[in-house]
Amino acid sequence: MQNKTLADISRTKTIATVGPACDTVETLKELIFRGVDVFRLNMAHGSREAHERAISRIREAESQLESSVGILVDLAGPKIRLGQLAEDPMVVTNGESLTFVRDPSSAIGNELSCSYDALIDEVQPGHVIVLADGIVRLEVTEKSIDRVKCLVVDGGSVRSRQGVNLPSTHLSVPALGPKDRENAVWSATQPIDFVSLSFVRNAAEIQELKGLLKEQGSQVSVIAKIEKSEALENLDEIVCACDGVMVARGDLGVEIEIYKTPIAQKRIIKTCLRHRRPVIVATQMLESMHTSKQPTRAEVSDVANAILDGADACMLSGETAIGQYPAEAVTMMQQIMLETEQLLRGQSSRISGQSPDHSLDVSEAVMLGAAQIATRLNACMVVISSSTGETALIKSKQRDFIPTVCVTNQRDVARSMCLFWGVIPICIDEAHQPERFRAFVNEWAKVVAKAGMDEPLVMVTDNQWMPDVHDNILVGRVS
Ligand code: PEP
Repeated sequence: MQNKTLADISRTKTIATVGPACDTVETLKELIFRGVDVFRLNMAHGSREAHERAISRIREAESQLESSVGILVDLAGPKIRLGQLAEDPMVVTNGESLTFVRDPSSAIGNELSCSYDALIDEVQPGHVIVLADGIVRLEVTEKSIDRVKCLVVDGGSVRSRQGVNLPSTHLSVPALGPKDRENAVWSATQPIDFVSLSFVRNAAEIQELKGLLKEQGSQVSVIAKIEKSEALENLDEIVCACDGVMVARGDLGVEIEIYKTPIAQKRIIKTCLRHRRPVIVATQMLESMHTSKQPTRAEVSDVANAILDGADACMLSGETAIGQYPAEAVTMMQQIMLETEQLLRGQSSRISGQSPDHSLDVSEAVMLGAAQIATRLNACMVVISSSTGETALIKSKQRDFIPTVCVTNQRDVARSMCLFWGVIPICIDEAHQPERFRAFVNEWAKVVAKAGMDEPLVMVTDNQWMPDVHDNILVGRVS
């Protein structure tokens, strides 16, 4: 974070999807410098070797900048895709009929095949089938043992291998299919920090992924992507089971009526605040910046509203992966965040998450006390020393604007905090050596927080410093 001061660092975190538009160490460094906290690898695209190269480039960029950057491996889940179309692209018109057939090689003329064999068994007359991210809508009219006839309700153009969504059908496909399991096992061998699962429907699916990662010796955080109506029905149990949530609006906007997504977004964010889980808002945030240096007014408002709703992080997808202006998109995100956060600051909102986990009550009370002391003394910052990051998450969910730094000697803990709103993670070896910690904090306060001599600062330490006590609050002055 050299040359940056607190005024340049937004509380809300930015996630950038990796792709050909940012595949050099230099571009990644630039994106980190401009505000990226976490990079996403989308396992739906690219080879494993390409993802491994991306991971080592990110780690190289992180190390050159001496910062902490998270890496999120996004498992594709049971995404259903069209097979090869006889005519590609195929333009279909309202009132026309199309037929899904079981055997991909037999698809001719107006026949379609897809990657999910059981589609033919599981859809029923009256069910809706959506193609190409919502462009084309079909209604099932008849089915036989190996054919499903559909009426085109909304026509348009479709291409081979585009997405197929079945919003009204209960699918028996597991959330964690063989490919996802392989990718999860692979991710456990990589220096990554978060694994997200697409198309989650219930808590058991999250527990299954956590179990698999644990078996492989991995402790990474698991993010549930909410993009199905069944996930909205089971929201509380999913949020409790996972370590973070993504409002995956791309598929969510197809699986539920698109006009219902803003309210679903608000509900998901509120649930995450209640259970003290970080929440990411994703997809089409600055979509037009694929090809334009300027976003639309509506996109800027969308990012601002996600921040006002209480999102911990906003995600860029194609904007940074394949767009023409990845650096400009990250800068725009930062500018919207910094500006919008002024309004939150003005409201001095404290939307504290009341976790049902009572074991954290003491830490929560200590953090509230620390924030009160810092406010009363007009302290330049709160510095947390933590070996797990839990105290930092509690502080994050208090949503105050007291500059907050969390110092740890665990690199993976620092990276996991890259999703915590308002927390600047710092990894130093001497995090638990009181004198070295104090000297580091003093220097950081002067250089980055621009604190003057004698300004108070509040430090919260976990019980590494003194056995048999919980957290400690210490007050010092910049010297
Ligand atoms: C989404 O659907 O919004 C999403 C983030 O997932 P993907 O990019 O894998 O479609």
